[in-house]
Amino acid sequence: MQRTNKHKHRVAIIGGGFGGLAAARKLRGADVDVTLIDRANHHLFQPLLYQVATGILSEGDIAPPLRELLRDQRNARVLFGEVIDIDLEARRLKVTTLDRTSEVRYDSLIVATGSSQSYFGHPEFADDAPGLKTIDDALEVRGRILGAFEMAERENDAAARRRFLTFVVVGAGPTGVELAGQLVELSRRALRNNFRRIDPAEARVVLLDAGPAVLSAFPEALRQRAMLDLEDIGVEVHVDTAVTHVDRNGLETDSKLPSLRRIEAATKVWAAGVQASPLGRMLANAGRFEIDRAGRVHVDADCSLPGHPEVFVVGDLMHLDKLPGVSQVAMQSGRHAADTIRRRLEGDSRHRPFRYRDYGSMATISRFRAVAEIGRSRLAGFPGWMLWLVVHLAALADFKHRLSVFSNWTIGLLGGGRAERVITLQQVFGRHAMSERSGPPNSAGQGAPLKSDRVPTVR
Ligand SMILES: Cc1cc2nc3c(=O)[nH]c(=O)nc-3n(C[C@H](O)[C@H](O)[C@H](O)COP(=O)(O)OP(=O)(O)OC[C@H]3O[C@@H](n4cnc5c(N)ncnc54)[C@H](O)[C@@H]3O)c2cc1C
Repeated sequence: MQRTNKHKHRVAIIGGGFGGLAAARKLRGADVDVTLIDRANHHLFQPLLYQVATGILSEGDIAPPLRELLRDQRNARVLFGEVIDIDLEARRLKVTTLDRTSEVRYDSLIVATGSSQSYFGHPEFADDAPGLKTIDDALEVRGRILGAFEMAERENDAAARRRFLTFVVVGAGPTGVELAGQLVELSRRALRNNFRRIDPAEARVVLLDAGPAVLSAFPEALRQRAMLDLEDIGVEVHVDTAVTHVDRNGLETDSKLPSLRRIEAATKVWAAGVQASPLGRMLANAGRFEIDRAGRVHVDADCSLPGHPEVFVVGDLMHLDKLPGVSQVAMQSGRHAADTIRRRLEGDSRHRPFRYRDYGSMATISRFRAVAEIGRSRLAGFPGWMLWLVVHLAALADFKHRLSVFSNWTIGLLGGGRAERVITLQQVFGRHAMSERSGPPNSAGQGAPLKSDRVPTVR
């Protein structure tokens, strides 16, 4: 980082997700020095996380390294680290990587740190019902799902076997719907003939939502179609059902149906609710800015912080005009912020409000079935699915990843199998249980058997 008065205009971008990466790319060729800071080394394509969790794609398919994506952009550098402090007055960031802390100075700042899972005041649910927000989450969920089938195969007790073969997804937005659909595909199709004592097709997939409908942001006709499609493929859908308790063996709900008050299920996945990144609260505390209930920062019409025109907040962390937390909002607001910085440097200081262009939304339900709303057009079934396929392929960050995703999809579609089924003991039993291994490692480097009560007796 140059510290003389002659330095170029320094743009710091926190977060290399949809908003941050779009902003960095928009500054390509500009007479600025861009520093993109992220605590992950990759740009994550979150919409396909559920496919990593169900073994269709590898984590590498949806998470290209940020350095690779910005390789040819000479004015941009990537800094691997977590921003832990923003000093708005001194225009300085504190960035930490393990035990190393450094400072980054900026002239313009774009904050694009997104959001995380919200458990609606019950953070304790997270241990037994992981969310789906990061690569770590997706690999953990994959370990739990595939591990549950393995455990069921080894289980002698019918009730326990049933519990291992019950999968509950909480939250019927696009992620929940897509994950539930893929769980059915996995059990009925991909795992066929893989086991000898259980029939994976007997798996029960339950989708719960506290609201009155699935895909609540979609038009009524598409919501109904999605509901019919889900039930048709074998997902058990229960709306108006809020989860009140989660534990290792299942969960409890406020349902009026006695059979749903407690569901015995080894695998629960949380796909309900988001909460803005803690950097929103940090900014609010630093400058007395307003944040909403989800922790998103209220910004001016051009996405800048009130009283700090050099700081922009974009994407999921931004609260502006009730815009939804979707990738298009993040990318367009990131580009808008970058464009504003560019224009100002060229002497154009006119105030330009951010205008969001809504290209529509879509969700896939299973192979050959999806719902999509593009402008006034509504598509369902096979045409919706084809559109979903094309749009998601095109939206991936680079050609190499489009190619590998396409080839994995082809394997899945033609052969019915899953390319990515590796699971580790740590994912199945959890880090905690692994550390319960007693005794010194044996000659093979393995410890004594796990003490975990999750290990059933084999006949
Ligand atoms: C499972 C799932 C499915 C989704 N499906 C869709 C979909 O189908 N269509 C759609 O439009 N949207 C979808 N979304 C929403 C979409 O992914 C988000 O709206 C979008 O990612 C928001 O972009 P962002 O840039 O604000 O944040 P993100 O893309 O989340 O990026 C935030 C980045 O900031 C980094 N970061 C966070 N805190 C710090 C820190 N303190 N220091 C340094 N770096 C930090 C993170 O590592 C991350 O790389 C989905 C989201 C999820 C989780």
